[in-house]
Amino acid sequence: MSSSTPAASPSATSDEQNVATALHTVQARISALQNARNCKDVQLVAVSKTKPNALVQAAYDAGQRHFGENYVQEVVQKAGELPNDILWHFIGPLQSNKAKLLASVENLHVVESIDRVKTAMVLDKAVAASGRAHPLDVMVQVNTSDEESKSGCACGEAVEVAQAVAGCERLRLVGLMTIGAPDDSEEPEAFRRLVTERDAVAAALGRDSGSLSLSMGMSNDFEAAIRMGSNSVRVGSTIFGARNYNR
Ligand SMILES: *Cc1c(COP(=O)(O)O)cnc(C)c1O
Repeated sequence: MSSSTPAASPSATSDEQNVATALHTVQARISALQNARNCKDVQLVAVSKTKPNALVQAAYDAGQRHFGENYVQEVVQKAGELPNDILWHFIGPLQSNKAKLLASVENLHVVESIDRVKTAMVLDKAVAASGRAHPLDVMVQVNTSDEESKSGCACGEAVEVAQAVAGCERLRLVGLMTIGAPDDSEEPEAFRRLVTERDAVAAALGRDSGSLSLSMGMSNDFEAAIRMGSNSVRVGSTIFGARNYNR
């Protein structure tokens, strides 16, 4: 976490000031856990879906650089309007016919939501066509809560999808992502499953487990996720306020 946190500008609206304050609170909660566990840096991704540019800019001005979006159209638009050193994380369902548009975002940092072999293939082609100089980082999204409404491949499919990604010339497998399920326990079952899948993928690919990140933990459970080994937490409403509608 950055130690120098610029103050909000004097002309900031109260909503913008609230974002800066909430961001610092989340950063402090993450730092406290890191210090307690003496673990390496946990990345904070600020999930800005449905939120206006002014609030994204407020978080940016407070030092945040990693942002998450769920909709291709929305990340394309925001990337065009906001500072180009933002590192965008695409975390929503990806339809094949949107892969080209998504790959056109120059400062797209990672696609965390690859859950089918076919989508990996299509994204690989789109990246080749986009002229990006380097492979695109991707994660395999796993549905660890067996809920049909949630995106992600089934636990038993993660190795197959990961192998497909690993076989794509223009994609680089960097980890696994999950949403999980509401769970008040100290060690949510969904996160335990993602750790297991990560280890299975690492074994299947002959890689070190530590070379594959775990993207798990949202507003309500990011602290539990960090305790269980999360490397990247995706926090939306706790930073930006409740969303009017869930999409
Ligand atoms: C919306 C969303 C988040 C953030 O959720 P909050 O509960 O608002 O923190 C994180 N990950 C994914 C995949 C999302 O769709």
